[in-house]
Amino acid sequence: MRVLVTGGAGYIGSHAARILRAAGHDVWIYDSLVYGHRGAALPGRLIEGEIDDHAKVEAVLAEKQIEAVMHFAAFAYVGESVTDPKKYYRNNVMGTLCLMEAMQNAGVKKMVFSSTTATYGVPEQIPICESEKQDPINPYGFSKLVVEKALADYARAYDWGYAALRYFNAAGASPSGEIGEDHSPETHLIPLVLQVALGQRDHITVFGNDYPTPDGTCIRDYIHVDDLGSAHVKALEMLQPGTELKMNLGTGKGTSVREIIDACRTVTGHAIPEQLGQRRPGDPPELVADSSLAKKTLDWQPQYMDIQSIVATAWKWHQSHPHGYQD
Ligand code: UDP
Repeated sequence: MRVLVTGGAGYIGSHAARILRAAGHDVWIYDSLVYGHRGAALPGRLIEGEIDDHAKVEAVLAEKQIEAVMHFAAFAYVGESVTDPKKYYRNNVMGTLCLMEAMQNAGVKKMVFSSTTATYGVPEQIPICESEKQDPINPYGFSKLVVEKALADYARAYDWGYAALRYFNAAGASPSGEIGEDHSPETHLIPLVLQVALGQRDHITVFGNDYPTPDGTCIRDYIHVDDLGSAHVKALEMLQPGTELKMNLGTGKGTSVREIIDACRTVTGHAIPEQLGQRRPGDPPELVADSSLAKKTLDWQPQYMDIQSIVATAWKWHQSHPHGYQD
């Protein structure tokens, strides 16, 4: 299939684009490079542009004879979405609606959409099933939920086929060491801990150790970014007119902040000093996926089930690119 990957120069999009290409698809990247990196995009395949540039998107879809879109382009800082919601409504909601309208005009009716566990808000049950109520507690989660709803309406009214994939914590890097995680500012736990191991930070701050979890620190479901990518490809290949796939992507295994730091110590051989800090507002104690629907529907299985193997791929990337794509 000829596929346009929006946000394909970002962390998850760049990994998915390579997996898509390896599966035999013809891949084009569309990215504004606001958060994306030129070096992360597939060489020779990058088209620079904004997703709300209706005319440009439509022209690209026609010129490249695109048959489906994988849509990763979005802002994804939960805290920023609370302090600057207009940015999130403009880009994640308005931008995506522009993209969808351009697709509709160009006759492209297949989309794999990056959704998020943040659409569930504070879940009532762990592990989280797709039947859990979607009740986001921040503008980021809400912006993604609005798009899920719009896609459902498009599928019913215009025969679109779509997959809304709700990610848990994306982690790790390509095992080749060629691409990896490079956010600015970096807020995610694993890259921050590895920056301590590299000597770029003095210590890691643990955001609270009084949660109702076995070691008192928050538990998350860390899924390797390439496992996310392979699920995207499988979902894409299943899309037919009217197909609606809404599913969680995680490993089903929870790992605490303390266990992440210990895994990083083991993998890097570095002592990694830590300090105890305040709880971070809005952090639920535990988020773990029930991914049985994705496993069954997509015939998909995460390959990285062990947190050390995920951290090892991230460490390889950080060691070879201590300053990210600047290196
Ligand atoms: N965390 C932490 N110290 C940090 C960054 C994150 O203790 O410097 C914790 C955070 O509170 C959460 C977990 O690590 O429980 C994962 O956070 P991250 O920002 O990586 O992902 P999120 O779960 O927010 O998507």
